[in-house]
Amino acid sequence: MSVSAPATSPGALVLFSGGQDSTACLAWALERYERVETVGFDYGQRHAIELEARDAVRARIVAEFPQWADRLGEDHLLDLRGFGAVGGSALTTERAIEMTDRGLPSTFVPGRNLVFLTYAAALADRRGLTALVGGMCETDFSGYPDCRRDTLDAMQTALNLGMERDFVIETPLMWLTKAQTWGLAKTLGGDALVAITVEDTHTCYLGERGELHAWGHGCGHCPACDLRAKGWGEWNAAGQPALDV
Ligand code: ZN
Repeated sequence: MSVSAPATSPGALVLFSGGQDSTACLAWALERYERVETVGFDYGQRHAIELEARDAVRARIVAEFPQWADRLGEDHLLDLRGFGAVGGSALTTERAIEMTDRGLPSTFVPGRNLVFLTYAAALADRRGLTALVGGMCETDFSGYPDCRRDTLDAMQTALNLGMERDFVIETPLMWLTKAQTWGLAKTLGGDALVAITVEDTHTCYLGERGELHAWGHGCGHCPACDLRAKGWGEWNAAGQPALDV
């Protein structure tokens, strides 16, 4: 990894899992920043399939969006398996996906986004990137406390104090429903980006690709597939509107 990138270029680092949400975030960043890099985290997910989706989505964006291809820079994959071992949840172990007595789904990994953002900020510092872009969302997700904007505001302050930088944590999906996230994809990249999202992104908690449903691949039953399919259904019922942004 080069550390020679200029310190002040208008660049963004996208936390990119290869899912629907982070793909929308990647397109959002490519529209706004001259230089965009991506970072993924291997924290011992049960399914490497999510990490493979990252390569597929990036490759199709380069192939189908020449105006973005020049802006899309390096991809980084950071090994956080040590953290995954501490934070074990249904995503990293064989526990069933269910609600816990804290009122959180068992897919919750304590502090995961805080750790991701700390690693992302350290990487962005070295790469001379100032925006950290993530798909955290309060509206439609599972009540994860580290997805809330208040948490991210505090995190941004802590990172900037602790690293003497001016990072901005951008969360373009924070107030969108899942249906609106489909609309955002259409706004940013038209039907081509919607097709990439359907065919190549991966959201299913169980790591199943299986058949291609109208809304994408997945088991069709887990909470992540439920949310994705429901959002797709609402968006289609409304006539696949683009989102005003
Ligand atoms: Zn699923």
